Amino acid sequence: MELIDSHCHLDAPEFDADRESVLAAARAAGVSGIVVPAYVASRWHSLLRLCRAHSRATAAAPRLWPALGLHPVHLAAHVDADLDALAALLAASPDVVAVGEIGLDRFLPELVTDAAWARQKALFEAQLDLARQRDLPVILHARRCHADIQASLKRTRHVSGGILHAFSGSVEEAGQYRRLGLHLGLGGPLTYPQSARLRAVATSLPLDAFVLETDAPDLVPFRHCDQHGDGRERQPGERVRNSPAYLPDVLDCFAEIRPESRETLAEAFSRNAMQALRLG
Ligand SMILES: [Zn+2]
Repeated sequence: MELIDSHCHLDAPEFDADRESVLAAARAAGVSGIVVPAYVASRWHSLLRLCRAHSRATAAAPRLWPALGLHPVHLAAHVDADLDALAALLAASPDVVAVGEIGLDRFLPELVTDAAWARQKALFEAQLDLARQRDLPVILHARRCHADIQASLKRTRHVSGGILHAFSGSVEEAGQYRRLGLHLGLGGPLTYPQSARLRAVATSLPLDAFVLETDAPDLVPFRHCDQHGDGRERQPGERVRNSPAYLPDVLDCFAEIRPESRETLAEAFSRNAMQALRLG
């Protein structure tokens, strides 16, 4: 089985101590490729270096694909010059598969003051423009703002597809994104028993709508949420690090709730990811 993790922040400091063993564990779990979206400009070059060191899958590690962008949650770290730097780096880096992670966030209070919201929108639409100029897909972050995201996609006439990652909306909103040419990324949150709304999405849309993702180090699946990777039990206040090796948990959840076999699902989700981000 060859799975693609369409969203994993492998370049994050949380993986600095054991990145290669995380990659080996993911490969052993059947993951053959991982898309690594960026979040701040200061890490773009190290992200590119990491992905270029893994430009093909081996027995010990999946292949890595880079995406570059400015994440809305890290708004305070972004400066206007980052947009020019992004344009230049995209032009010079044919291996970058998408502009991402970009988007809008209404969940964090500091991001919805008038000034912060205007800034979020300006950065998001400027990056959608860059994606259009370079004919690149996008990897989108959207929390509590599906109507705003869709309005920006329409305003910038985005037609090069991509993924709405960690989708958490309704069946209706899922259909709206599909009509805009986007795939929906589902990960750890689907595996929780209380995820009725997400499970309705996962079972209501055709198979070609979805791609698998972990969003590691965030959004650990239910089965791993109380135990660290080294076997230690989670203590109160601690967070368990998610891993691309846990991607099969998401596949297993789909297999429990959909009629298709695990193999059929795995093949379809990998094909969808290849198509959504035009992965060669
Ligand atoms: Zn992310």
